[in-house]
Amino acid sequence: MTCLKPEDRGPADGNAGSLDFNPFDAMTPRLPSEADKTARNGQRVKSNDVTPTGVYKPNYNILTPHMRSPDYVQMSTAAAITLGVMNGKMHRCACTRCLNLLLTYPEGCRANCAYCGLARHREAERDYADRNFIRVDWPAVPMEEIVDIVARDGENSPFHRMCISMITHPNSDADTVTVLKKWTDRITADSIPVSILSNPTTMKRNDVKVLKDLGADIFTVALDAATPALFGRTRGKGVNSPHSWKKYWEVLNDARDIFGNQKFGAHIIVGMGETEHEVLTLVQQLVDMGGHSHMFCFFPEKGSLMDHLPATPRDQWRRVQLARYLIDYVGVRIDQMRFDEEGRVSDFGLPQGELDTIIDAGIAFRTSGCPGKFAEDISACDRPYGDSPPSDIASFPFQPIKKDIKKIRRQLDMRDRALLEV
Ligand code: SF4
Repeated sequence: MTCLKPEDRGPADGNAGSLDFNPFDAMTPRLPSEADKTARNGQRVKSNDVTPTGVYKPNYNILTPHMRSPDYVQMSTAAAITLGVMNGKMHRCACTRCLNLLLTYPEGCRANCAYCGLARHREAERDYADRNFIRVDWPAVPMEEIVDIVARDGENSPFHRMCISMITHPNSDADTVTVLKKWTDRITADSIPVSILSNPTTMKRNDVKVLKDLGADIFTVALDAATPALFGRTRGKGVNSPHSWKKYWEVLNDARDIFGNQKFGAHIIVGMGETEHEVLTLVQQLVDMGGHSHMFCFFPEKGSLMDHLPATPRDQWRRVQLARYLIDYVGVRIDQMRFDEEGRVSDFGLPQGELDTIIDAGIAFRTSGCPGKFAEDISACDRPYGDSPPSDIASFPFQPIKKDIKKIRRQLDMRDRALLEV
């Protein structure tokens, strides 16, 4: 068995001299303030009413055009570069394999999640289409133009998957259907399958069914917080936000019934105050239901209610990343693992040799998400640098090489295999 001894650990990369996990009490968000009436609900953008022309790249020096789904959607900077509507290069990545589309409205998302750059409390400070989200800008692109490019590229498209990200807005359910139809009218589900990153708060069971019937392949629920208490503090009443743990689970259970085995999952952010045991219990629960977990490492998004808090220490993140991979893809169960008094993983439940092989393969440390065309355990959604800067990578958007594995082993406080074999 592989035993870690937390008390023996020295400072790991990225969190020298601090705790090697983010405890609940240290991760309290700031309280949100409500914007002045004149800035609420996208008033600025709607009263200026600037007509959009083509692609809009977030720019605080010009008036934000009046853009609205389903005609317009936003996409990550990585997706815009890969699609060819924006210039740029990504550190150690040629492209992204997931075309992630985000619904957009001047009113923005009406929720107030504490870790999110899109949250409602920012409406006085920045128009919705200009807000940073998972560390990057999200250019807005006409949906017709996106479908034209992808359909034209056909088999040569770099994308292995498309994902529609819903937000909390009264039109979000209907517009998700329209965006999905616009896609499936021109692009077959076999060539580039579609995932839905849902917003349960506005959804009913039949909405889930409609998306399945229209050809969506995978349905995910962004639980994000790993426990009911954390959920309430970061996404519910704690920050004047409308979400509830109960409703999210209701829709997650609907997704299991309607989309079926291996075709549903949940997003989880690690390091917002849950213990490693708590988050891995959730991972096991999802696997036992027949689904998967897609994980992010908490990063303090600029402008969010948690931007003053520490990113997840790399050793906590690596332990959870590895343990989650073992539960999701290797058949190890949480009850085979051992945890210390702080809930940290102290034993992964596998013989050292087997664990070494998995660590050295590196897949466990890649970005997790819906699969692409390479392998079931390699995510199409690689979200380059969505949860860390490139200088201290949390989720690897590419295959980690020897020097990366060496660093990962240091972060796990495990010696290099080559050294072990000497
Ligand atoms: S519902 Fe999603 S987009 Fe809206 S604030 Fe919460 S995390 Fe951000």
